[in-house]
Amino acid sequence: MGFTIIPICKKCGYQTKAVSVGGGKLNHRTQCGAPALNTESNEIEEINLYNYKSSVIVKRRILYLFYRNVTVEKTDDRYIPYYEPKMFVNDKKIGNHHWNNKYYKKSKNFCPKCKSFNLDFADGGIWFD
Ligand SMILES: [Zn+2]
Repeated sequence: MGFTIIPICKKCGYQTKAVSVGGGKLNHRTQCGAPALNTESNEIEEINLYNYKSSVIVKRRILYLFYRNVTVEKTDDRYIPYYEPKMFVNDKKIGNHHWNNKYYKKSKNFCPKCKSFNLDFADGGIWFD
């Protein structure tokens, strides 16, 4: 089911602890781990995509007089998940780690320390369910 990856930068040596991707058999409805850049601390962290994205219902005005409830998706602005296209170089030759419909490049990801696209997501070697 889920697995771990370790972010390592080939250029500056930046590395973090292993990040869990996806969820296990028992918690996959509430837990979906993903690597993301914390833009406040400038570190790569594991986030739970279920907390990152939330749906909120807002009232939107239609034709001056009427209001309708509209569901909009809200994300936590502090984090940028690594499946976002701006977080990696889209080189087709590079393999992916994937979970559900989310893909993470095995290399050429953005490194928050040296600001280059030299970060690998190495296999953490741990599978969990
Ligand atoms: Zn780096």
